[in-house]
Amino acid sequence: MKFSELGLTQDLLTAIEKHGYVEATPIQEQTIPLTLQGIDVIGQAQTGTGKTAAFGLPILENIDPQGGLQALIISPTRELAIQTQEELYQLGRDKRVKVQVVYGGSDIRKQINGLKNHPNILVGTPGRLLDHLNRKTVKLDSIKNLVLDEADEMLDMGFLDDIESILKAVPAERQTMLFSATMPPAIKRIGVQFMQDPKHIKIEAKELTTDLVDQYYVKTKEFEKFDVMTRLFDVQNPNLTIIFGRTKRRVDELAKGLEARGYRAAGIHGDLSQQMRMKVLRQFKGGELDILVATDVAARGLDIKDVTHVYNYDIPQDPESYVHRIGRTGRAGAHGTSLTFVSPSEIDYLRDIEKLTKKRMLPLKPPTKEEALAGRIATALGEVENIIGRTKTEGIEEQIANLVNQYDSETLAAALLTAAARPDSEAVPVKITPERPLPRKKGNGGGYRGGNRRGGDRRGGDRRGGDRREGGYRGRREGGRGGDRREGGRGEGRREGGYRGGRDGEKRGGFRGNGNGSHGRRPFTIHENNND
Ligand code: ADP
Ligand code: MG
Repeated sequence: MKFSELGLTQDLLTAIEKHGYVEATPIQEQTIPLTLQGIDVIGQAQTGTGKTAAFGLPILENIDPQGGLQALIISPTRELAIQTQEELYQLGRDKRVKVQVVYGGSDIRKQINGLKNHPNILVGTPGRLLDHLNRKTVKLDSIKNLVLDEADEMLDMGFLDDIESILKAVPAERQTMLFSATMPPAIKRIGVQFMQDPKHIKIEAKELTTDLVDQYYVKTKEFEKFDVMTRLFDVQNPNLTIIFGRTKRRVDELAKGLEARGYRAAGIHGDLSQQMRMKVLRQFKGGELDILVATDVAARGLDIKDVTHVYNYDIPQDPESYVHRIGRTGRAGAHGTSLTFVSPSEIDYLRDIEKLTKKRMLPLKPPTKEEALAGRIATALGEVENIIGRTKTEGIEEQIANLVNQYDSETLAAALLTAAARPDSEAVPVKITPERPLPRKKGNGGGYRGGNRRGGDRRGGDRRGGDRREGGYRGRREGGRGGDRREGGRGEGRREGGYRGGRDGEKRGGFRGNGNGSHGRRPFTIHENNND
């Protein structure tokens, strides 16, 4: 449906067009007319379906740029807050709407100055918003529109106290919107208490799970997972990849292990400093990294383009997380592949996921060493073509002639092929600390996100900045909220087809080495200094 049919005025329609949106997405189509009428809305649709604009456009429509602070958007992570601020700023720029973002782990004085500047929309994380409220550097008594983005997360135990405190400072007479990919009944019950006769718009899962993602699973034992994964890289030859790990330690170990094997990989999770996470994401988006390893929380809501593969190193405990995860690929009409490792005792979790997505994952056999080699050589052949394509002979004719005299063509071809191939990853041993498999399911089914996953104290992650350490044990969710998306902004530093390390005309696909794997080949063990 066209945006012009939704009741938005011309100014905003022009901004939408400039922003490159042609048609409204289903969640936008169904919620925007309601929101414009002032109705409270629960908007539920899968990740990547344009929920930001769904709540953002009606807010921008009704904002009076001279009227001070009118809308508050609460986001679970700073990265999401920044991303939302950016999008609303761009859509509201022509109308001169001022959008301020506040989040933990960054200079509060700068934010205070920004707040003095009479923003119209405030986007923030709960911890930092509370901070500003307590310091009396922000007043929320003029708020007309309130949004809880990723509402399932916001209304869950860890954040609820903060949200309640913030809402006390917001007038009861207001429009409230909850947007989320999932809306478990228990969470909805909490949410509606903050709303008036809300209308629940749900875009059905069938429209949601992307058919553009080929979903595979591999049965493996914990101890062989890492080797199987790098063999799979050899065979699948992924391009831009996100690997999900269950815990922060896992993410660290995987990233370090991959680096040791010559992959350009780095991890993000809540224990890393804000700067570090920004750096990693900037590198990933800019093409300096091929693999991003992340926890669920760190990757939430992040809009990263052109991810070709998602590997679930650990199968997620709840099916909704799975949908979130694989939603990182197959975006915007592109094709994606997901691969989920599952230990024999975790197979029921896989079946639960399939029930939700209504799609079967295809089993893949772990590749053998021989298959991995064949994969590497196949990739190398493509690379050889690239090399030959850009080879110039001027000035080195004599040396070429010498080589041709000295060696037969088979030897030269073999040398070229070997040089072009990525080395055998397994030549560098990597040991990943075993993680307990998920508890065996009793009966099948089970409610929403059971188990100890919710156990951690997740509050305050953004309040205390990035260097927060937690006790707790693995299997718990982390408290710090990670990930990041700011640097480079939308459209900059993004991968474009054909671009690869600055060399033109090269075929895409496949990881570039970081140089480690080919030389070093040192045995590699992980330092156990992570108190996850
Ligand atoms: P969600 O919050 O549902 O996960 P986002 O709001 O982050 O999704 O949007 C995902 C991506 O889709 C963003 O890059 C956004 O700019 C883009 N997008 C949103 N609405 C539209 C639209 N109507 N047409 C094209 N792209 C859109
Ligand atoms: Mg969102």
